[in-house]
Amino acid sequence: MSLEIWSNLKLSLLGRIVAIKMNVLPRMLFLFQTLQIVDKMDCFKRWQKDISKFVWQGKKPRIKFKILTDAKEIGGFALPDLKLYYESAAFCWLKEWLLLENTDILDLEGFNNVFGWHAYLWYDKVKAHKAFRNHIVRKALFNVWLRYKDLLENKTPRWLSPMEAKALKKLNMEVKWPKYWEILEQDGDRLKLQSFEKLKNKVRDWLHYYQIMEAFKLDRKNGFQVERSKLETELLEPKTKNLSRMYNLLLKWNTQDETVKSAMIKWAQDIGHNIMFADWEQLWTTGMKFTACNALRENVMKMIYRWYITPVKLAKIYHLPDNKCWKCKETEGTFFHLWWTCPKIKAFWEMIYNELKRYLNIPS
Ligand SMILES: [Zn+2]
Repeated sequence: MSLEIWSNLKLSLLGRIVAIKMNVLPRMLFLFQTLQIVDKMDCFKRWQKDISKFVWQGKKPRIKFKILTDAKEIGGFALPDLKLYYESAAFCWLKEWLLLENTDILDLEGFNNVFGWHAYLWYDKVKAHKAFRNHIVRKALFNVWLRYKDLLENKTPRWLSPMEAKALKKLNMEVKWPKYWEILEQDGDRLKLQSFEKLKNKVRDWLHYYQIMEAFKLDRKNGFQVERSKLETELLEPKTKNLSRMYNLLLKWNTQDETVKSAMIKWAQDIGHNIMFADWEQLWTTGMKFTACNALRENVMKMIYRWYITPVKLAKIYHLPDNKCWKCKETEGTFFHLWWTCPKIKAFWEMIYNELKRYLNIPS
């Protein structure tokens, strides 16, 4: 990777992250969008290691990788996660299998399919037709789908077409497959399959209708997705920006656990009261916009993520007997003490405060 040239430049932490975004990401995206054949996920770990090395300049990382990749709006650094980009690109391809509209692509990618696409995606037919996964692109895409299927659709999806799933595969089949959201109707507080009368134009005959009914009864056990799912609103419906929408969606799944909030919790413990997540978010959406200066912003972020090593940490790492604050030499040198409660630092902040007041002509 050409990162070696870049690493000789003197860039800040944020600068190095931007360098990844502008330099590495576009090239990888081109690859991901044209070739969906990454079989072993190990290579992502390797690439990520190289990137990490570059971002931290070979030193030990001081901020968790997940926090680095998280969205800026919730306090992340928006470092691209290549694996997630790869998977998002896969979903842009999978979109055709879910929508069933582009028959050219479907015929090409599914030339030797035995069942309908939805039979593979939802009804586990891969077990019955193993050759489905012998196809290099299909296998890679299908693996991505399996990884996220349950997260994205935990009930029977609205876009699922039992008609297509049950259809025998022929070339250039009809374009318009009826989806569940078009063939179900509300019956009191539950959903039922529309009557044969209503579906007459969508099914071949009575027998076909009963086949669909059988599928419906099975799917009912899983429950039906009533509202539009995120997969629909972010991937299936929009005509543009599918890749970035999908990336943001997968990113949310990937970072929703503790990660970002761990810094928030530590601060809450220090100041002795809860921090509402909404306030934390506001800090990043509006609070951080007070300056366009990158160096200043980087300082603030390092501060919030407790980037700096304290006497307490040093004492722990090197088994030192002394973990007292460097300034007052009395209290334990915790992060909070060093920056906020130390008497020396308090006097310092007060000095700055008074100076500012004097400059800005604010009467005391
Ligand atoms: Zn002190």
